[in-house]
Amino acid sequence: MAQSGTDQPSGPETRTAHHPFDDRNADVILHSSDGVDFYVYRTILILASPFFRSMFSLPQSEISEPCQVVPVTEDSRTIESLLRICYPIKDPVIDDARHALAVFGAANKYEMEVATIFMSKAMSTIVELEPLLIYAVACKNGYEELAGQAARQVVVRGNAYLPEVEEMSAGCYHRLLKLKQIGVGRASEIGPFCGTSHGRNTSHSSVTDSALLGRQDADVVLVASDLTRFHVYKSIISLASPRLQTLIAEAEILRHGPQGSSDHTSLTTLTLQLPVDSKTLELLLALCDPAGTPILDDTALIFRALDEACKYEMHKASWILRQQFQRLMTADTLSFYLWAASYKQEEPAIKAAKLLLSHTMEELAGLYTDDMESVSAGSYYRLLRYHEECCAKISALEDWSPSTIPYPDCSDCGWRGTWDHWSTNYLRTIPERLSRRPSPTTFDGGFGFSEIVQAAKQSCSSCAQNYPGIVSFSKNIGEKIDEHISEVKLILVQSNE
Ligand SMILES: [Zn+2]
Repeated sequence: MAQSGTDQPSGPETRTAHHPFDDRNADVILHSSDGVDFYVYRTILILASPFFRSMFSLPQSEISEPCQVVPVTEDSRTIESLLRICYPIKDPVIDDARHALAVFGAANKYEMEVATIFMSKAMSTIVELEPLLIYAVACKNGYEELAGQAARQVVVRGNAYLPEVEEMSAGCYHRLLKLKQIGVGRASEIGPFCGTSHGRNTSHSSVTDSALLGRQDADVVLVASDLTRFHVYKSIISLASPRLQTLIAEAEILRHGPQGSSDHTSLTTLTLQLPVDSKTLELLLALCDPAGTPILDDTALIFRALDEACKYEMHKASWILRQQFQRLMTADTLSFYLWAASYKQEEPAIKAAKLLLSHTMEELAGLYTDDMESVSAGSYYRLLRYHEECCAKISALEDWSPSTIPYPDCSDCGWRGTWDHWSTNYLRTIPERLSRRPSPTTFDGGFGFSEIVQAAKQSCSSCAQNYPGIVSFSKNIGEKIDEHISEVKLILVQSNE
């Protein structure tokens, strides 16, 4: 945000912009983030931008310098292009997507209508250069029209991973995949690409006093980041959290001095401000309260609370929260994965990602949950890549020989591990069969069992009736698949590439 200031920036870094922004008769200096001074005329800024009009209409302190200096957060390249659009001079040439986005963003921020219109036109051609980049930035900033244009281009041209993917929501990325599936001709069937909600409300809207753990004689008040106050017993939360115990002790020393004291201040309740939202704090305190009955059905809240529970060393609360994993993962595997990945909880994230392998890629890309609007597209993108890699891994398997997964011996068909047995032939079909659903559960508890019975029936009735044999055969296949899938690494955090 630009701020009005009169302090002349100093230091060797400051340079003066090129002509025509070096005009010493000008009455305002825009000081860019990389230390370049642009000498500009206030009148032009006022005409071009309601933002600057309001800024300059504020009462100014007595200015001794000939020029008012306004520091801005944009770099000099962005400011120069922006000013060239607003000044009655030749327009800038903009042919680089990241630069175009920076100028477009600045034009929007400073409410420069002329620049916004100019940049909207420029973006229409630039969108073909790096459509995914433009899509990501458009979604992040809610530029719906631009997002729609970029989405069509991504579908037509395709695009590799970009760091900007991390900044848009999984919901936005999902709509891009949907457009790919149904085709650009049906783009109108997809809701706003930018999405309608921007994250769920994570805290109480009003400032309240919670009665949780709060009795008349509560001796500590914990204040959440949204100023909700929780009246609690020092003894209970100290037992539950060694970290809170330390914080309380430190606060007491600050208040009384290291010797402690029995003067009148000890009668007032100790107040401790915590950088935790009230909903999360409420859950954590309910988990500490011997009489608390916390509601544990919100996956996002549970991962957030777990994150804080680790910071505050609340081991029992962490344990109880982890006990909810299996139930929540079964209820909504995709949401569970997205939150687990967002909070870098590797083990539950891998479990959920493996469970999702029982879907084909098309089915997985078609799944949608509201939580997708609140998590980064990065985690979602990496889940899809993981699925792809698992499919490729299973398709490429060649070692499904009778020696890897032997069928129990059968006296009727004389099976003793030869290559022409039905079980061997069946094993050979697995890479293709599982190439689209590379999941161990497909066998172990999935359709594997009935498939094997069918395959056996066509060759040997004794084999087909050997149910314990078939059960262990399908279980062994499941384990073998799991072994191969476990070699595929699920990346939780993208390293800079
Ligand atoms: Zn047999």
